[in-house]
Amino acid sequence: RTFSQFEIRNEILESLDLLGYKTPTEVQEEAIPEILNDKNVVIKSKTGSGKTATFSIPLIQKIVWDKKNPQALILSPTRELAMQIKEEIFSIGRLARIKVEAIYGKSSFIKQEKLLKQRNHFIVATPGRLLDHMTRKTIDLSEVDYLVIDEADEMLKMGFIEQIEEIIQQINPKQIILLSATLEEKILNKIGTYITNPVYISV
Ligand code: AMP
Repeated sequence: RTFSQFEIRNEILESLDLLGYKTPTEVQEEAIPEILNDKNVVIKSKTGSGKTATFSIPLIQKIVWDKKNPQALILSPTRELAMQIKEEIFSIGRLARIKVEAIYGKSSFIKQEKLLKQRNHFIVATPGRLLDHMTRKTIDLSEVDYLVIDEADEMLKMGFIEQIEEIIQQINPKQIILLSATLEEKILNKIGTYITNPVYISV
């Protein structure tokens, strides 16, 4: 199996080749077609399974380059993970000229405010700092179609679930992708209620 089995542009295939990704991992094989088909997806998978590329590849494919405001929002529990996700989206989207920015706490708000005025197809964010920007109206999320909630189990542990609910209610995305190493009832009862008819993928 190769990445060319998916309906993705050549710029993405070339970037994957440059990264040395030869064959899709198991979770990529199962989830990429569903995400390309606009399905809501709940994925149970661990770090190391290639989960970041799983949502990055199809979402890069679906981005409309000409739009200035963010179309995809990725929520991360930590700043370190947010930076890693940003790097991966940048690498996979490089030849497609995809713009991605990460915003997280303990970093200059003013600097982020400036970055948020530029073209960004993707925003990777930690929940607290994102809500600060939303409250102060320094971010325009009116065109976000795709929402990814990464490491939902960590989000739960760190007490971010209410903030995530607030973010979902405010942006009302067309597609939600949730990833977690474990799928506890608490996660499904809370965030799951916002995810209509999801496809469940467990690897
Ligand atoms: P993740 O689960 O997203 O933390 O990914 C784990 C590692 O696997 C990262 O270093 C990725 O760059 C790498 N990776 C992701 N997809 C593939 C693939 N299809 N082939 C080879 N490496 C990959």
